[in-house]
Amino acid sequence: MLDGRSLAARMREKIAPQAMEFARQHGRPPGLAIVLVGQNPASEIYVRLKVQAGSEAGFRADLERLPETASLADVLALVERLNRTAAYDGILVQAPLPAAVGAGAMSRVFDTIAPEKDVDGVTPSSVGRLVQGRPLMVPCTPLGIIELLEHEGIVIAGRRACVIGRSEIVGKPMALLLLQRDATVTVCHSKTADLAAITGEADILVAAIGRAGLVTKEFVKPGAVVIDVGMNTLADASLVSQWYPEGHPRLATFQKNGTLLVGDVHPNVAEVAGALTPVPGGVGPLTIAMLMANTLRAAQLGAGSALADSW
Ligand code: NAP
Repeated sequence: MLDGRSLAARMREKIAPQAMEFARQHGRPPGLAIVLVGQNPASEIYVRLKVQAGSEAGFRADLERLPETASLADVLALVERLNRTAAYDGILVQAPLPAAVGAGAMSRVFDTIAPEKDVDGVTPSSVGRLVQGRPLMVPCTPLGIIELLEHEGIVIAGRRACVIGRSEIVGKPMALLLLQRDATVTVCHSKTADLAAITGEADILVAAIGRAGLVTKEFVKPGAVVIDVGMNTLADASLVSQWYPEGHPRLATFQKNGTLLVGDVHPNVAEVAGALTPVPGGVGPLTIAMLMANTLRAAQLGAGSALADSW
C-alpha cells in the first residue's frame, strides 16, 4: 500500500515554515480563496478539508460561497473580484458547479481565473504550458500522484502507463505529466473498446473514473503500480459485503456510517498489484497537500521570488 496520507503530512509540515517566512517578509500570509457554489455534500467536505489545511499551514484560507441559484455571471463576477484582491494568491473554484449555472460554465470560469492565481492549473495558460512541457501551475491531484511515485522510487521513464479518465482536472494532466517523464502513455475513457486488454499492459495504471470498483484484478498486469483516484460513496450493503470478507475493518466502518468511501479500484486488485494507493488515505490527502504547495508557489511567484524547483 502506498501511504499518501503520511507523505502529505510531511509535505504540509515543510510548507508551514515557508508560509511563516513569506508572512514575515511580506507582512501577510499566503492567501487562498475557495469558491463553493451551491451545497453539494461531497464538495462541502472537500472545501472544509482544504480550508482547514490552509489554516493549519498558516495561510489565509477563505471560503467564498454562492447560493445554488447563482448565475454564471454571479460566479464570474466573484472570480473577477478575487482576481483583484491582493490578499489572495490562489483561487480555486470547487467542481462541480450546479447544473443550473449552465453547460460550459466551468470552461468560462477557467477562462476568468487570473493565470498567476491558478492554483488548480485549469486556465488555458496553465494547460498550454503543461502541454508544451514548461508547466507553471499543475492540477493538484495529478501533481500529488507524481510526487508519490517519485517519493516511492517508482520508475516512470520507459514504462507503459495507462490513465483511465480524460477529465481536464485529472485524466488529461495526469497523462501529460507521465508523458513529460518519458512514460509511454495510453488514455482510456468511456468509449474505449476492450478496456481490460489495454489496462492489462500497463506498468502504471491510474484510475480516475468515478465508478466504484470498476477496475478489478482482471484489468491489472501482475506487479503493476495502481493509483486509485476515485472517490465514490457506496451505500449498498450487499455490494459492500461482496467486496470485503467477514471481519474486515471496512465492514465495521460501513455499519457505523451507513455508507463507505471507496475508489474506482476493487479490493481484489491487491491480490495482483505490486503497489496500490488506498481509498481513503491515498490520493486525496496528496491533492490537498499539493493545493497548499501550489498556493505557496503562487504567493512566492507573485512576490517575484525565483523558484528553484519547477514542476
Ligand atoms: P469526470 O470528469 O467525471 O471524468 C471521468 C472520466 O472517466 C471520463 O473521462 C469518462 O469518460 C471516464 N469513464 C467513465 N465511465 C467509464 C468507463 N465505464 N470506462 C472507462 N472510462 C470511463 O471525473 P474526474 O473529475 O476526473 O474524477 C474522477 C474520479 O476521481 C471521481 O470519483 C472523483 O470524485 C475523483 N477525484 C478524486 C480526487 C482526489 O483528490 N482523490 C480529485 C479529483 C477527483 P468520457 O470522457 O468518455 O466521459
